Amino acid sequence: MPTELRYAEPTPADPNLFVVDAEMLGMKGYGGLYILRAPKPALVETGFSHTTPKVLKALEELGIAPDDVAYIAVTHVHMDHAGGAGFLAERCPNARVICHRVGAPHLINPEKLVRSVQRAVGPLFPYYGEMKPIPEERLVIVQGGARFELGDGYALEVIDAPGHAPHHACFYEPQTRGLFTGDAVGIYRREIGFIMTTPPPSFHFEESLATLNRLRELKPEWLYFTHYGAHPEPSTLLDEYERRLRAWVGRIEAKWHELGDENEEALYTHFLEEESQSPLARLYEPHALQAEVRMNVTGVLLYLRRRRESGTDRN
Ligand SMILES: [Zn+2]
Repeated sequence: MPTELRYAEPTPADPNLFVVDAEMLGMKGYGGLYILRAPKPALVETGFSHTTPKVLKALEELGIAPDDVAYIAVTHVHMDHAGGAGFLAERCPNARVICHRVGAPHLINPEKLVRSVQRAVGPLFPYYGEMKPIPEERLVIVQGGARFELGDGYALEVIDAPGHAPHHACFYEPQTRGLFTGDAVGIYRREIGFIMTTPPPSFHFEESLATLNRLRELKPEWLYFTHYGAHPEPSTLLDEYERRLRAWVGRIEAKWHELGDENEEALYTHFLEEESQSPLARLYEPHALQAEVRMNVTGVLLYLRRRRESGTDRN
């Protein structure tokens, strides 16, 4: 094995856990995937289709033959998490792709998903690459409670984690007491803190909160963020994320009531102006900031409308 790693970054959590930076939206340290170098090696998340060559190089420098990869586990089917799954499944012919049962049909036939992502991310779509259908027999279709032994004490336990999307799962790794969070705990960058990810079409606030409680009960010692990296102090981070999420939904709800349902553009403009003053503006290019804000506002707005229509609106 080469002594210097170029593609696989070691994590502080465990000598066999590595993160690969997918350089999402052209940014370093914004989104990636994990390689767990266990006797049965596993990938958690895949990055985009165009991340696949980098993943193969990372496997090579870790001394893992593609034929030996046992599992490719995705927290959900959004393209920054599962976009590369079909491509990696082809290159790792013995790997089974672990996916939550609600999302699995989209990996078998990704056409509708790709169109939905295109609507949600708008001008950022060129970053998202493409998807390749995965033959059904390569999938292991799971729900919370499933457990995969990887050898030497490593394992992946599936935790139902709806909220960001109804088919979202997290994976708990018992040996390192770490939790692969997907998007269930937002996007975290140490220098600016949390960034919301509340996308259409199915963001659900109460389910997100219930998921955070379920994750707390596991008492993890590490959070392995897809966006981005392994962080200690999970209880502080889970509390902080919940506070930020409540505030975000609360602000949108208040402004929506103030502006009225027909003033959707004014709602976007308001939050874009606000976020342009926030630390986010230092991170994103202006067009990316605009697309992200629109996506996160739309997700909450659709949720608020659904809640009003179902008669459970508190107002
Ligand atoms: Zn994501």
